[in-house]
Parts: sequence; C-alpha cells; structure tokens
Amino acid sequence: MRILVLSDIHANYEALQAVLNDAGAVDEVWCLGDVVGYGPDPNLCIETLRELPNLTCIAGNHDVAVLGEMPLSVFNGEARHALMWQRQALTLENLAFLRTLPQTPLVRGAVTLAHGSPRDPIWEYILNTLTARLNMEHFDTPFCFVGHSHIQGIFHFNPEHDRLNLIPCRPGQVFPMTPRAILNPGSVGQPRDRDPRAAYAIYDPEARTWEPRRIAYNIAAVQKRIRDLGLPERHAARLTEGW
Ligand code: ZN
Repeated sequence: MRILVLSDIHANYEALQAVLNDAGAVDEVWCLGDVVGYGPDPNLCIETLRELPNLTCIAGNHDVAVLGEMPLSVFNGEARHALMWQRQALTLENLAFLRTLPQTPLVRGAVTLAHGSPRDPIWEYILNTLTARLNMEHFDTPFCFVGHSHIQGIFHFNPEHDRLNLIPCRPGQVFPMTPRAILNPGSVGQPRDRDPRAAYAIYDPEARTWEPRRIAYNIAAVQKRIRDLGLPERHAARLTEGW
C-alpha cells in the first residue's frame, strides 16, 4: 500500500503536478495543509487536489487565514499581500472546500496528522529536538506527520533511553519506521531547506516504511506567473534557492 504524504503546496501548481507525476499510482493522498498562500495558482491547486481519490486533507495557517478566520496581521506584509490577492481570486467553491478542512489533528491508523504540531496544530513549528520532545506527549499513535516548517525530516524518540534524535533525510532512501516518531514530508511548493526541488513522501502503512522524495519542476514558469500577477518578488526569488 502506498500513501502519498504532502504538505505546504502554497498555490504552486507546477510543483504539485510534478509531485503527482513522480509519485505514480497511490492508494491514498494525505495532505497536511497550506494548500494556499504565497503562490500564483490557488484555484488550480485546490481543484487538482479535490479530484484525487481517497484524499484526506487538514487545514494549515494560510488556509484558515484566507477564509478570514484569523486576522491577517499575524502574517508578514508579503505573505499578507498574497493572501489578500488569493482571497479575492478564489472561487466560492474552492473557498467552501477550504472551509471543510479540519483544524484539529486527525488520526488515521497508526498516525496522527497535524499541520504544525499535535499540541498546536495550526501554528507551532517543530524545528528542533526540544520542541519535538515536548510534542511527544500530545499524540497517542506511534507516529505523527506534520508540515508547516517546510523542512523534510524525522524526529525519532526512543522511550527506553528518553532520547530524541533528528534523523537526516536522504531523498529516495526508504526508512523503516520504528515507534515513536514525528515525520515531515517537506514542502511541495516552497521548500526551505536549500534544496529547491519539490518535497514529499511515500508512506507504506503495511511495511511501515517512509520514503522522503524530491523532484525538480519548472521553477521559472512559476516565477513568471508570480511576477505577471504582481505578487511579491521575494516569493518568486526564494524558489530558486529553496529558502
Ligand atoms: Zn506553509
């Protein structure tokens, strides 16, 4: 069984399409939120996602913000600019889709799904072992999948030794999953780990394996869309370097 795990698409349709092509046939798709924000194609991304069979999708902070359910002042000026443009660009149907996304963690088999972290699913970033350790008490399943930081990684906790380690990810390498762990597939549409390729992961619940993957996509085409629409230049520039 193959489950495609993706997160932080951020309205980058070129990257999403590259990921879907590269992933090939999958049984389910789990999306950890932030379908919108930053990028030029929020409608196309939502429509593509909605068409995928066996989709589970939760809300991220940008998805909640575009609905007007939190003040945009919590975002920096450029992120706010993109959100305000997207709010008026999104169709009513696509806004309705975003409204259906759960804003609290979901449990699927052995896995808890959260956008940021299990204890603060919309906002907290798990960027270091201390934050990961503190979050271990906030989910009951063997594993937790999160996005939000835009950084591919595995935080593994050994309860016997009370030790938590950050395991570096080598894309294409298949990791046997041993409880307990917090795993991040990285970001499809705006990677921030200096690798500009779109990031995602394949989870096999029967074999209990996790395969982080990267795929190159047409960054120049997305940058042209961002510039043509008059969206912030920074959101175009950062895609080249992956920050
Ligand atoms: Zn994000």
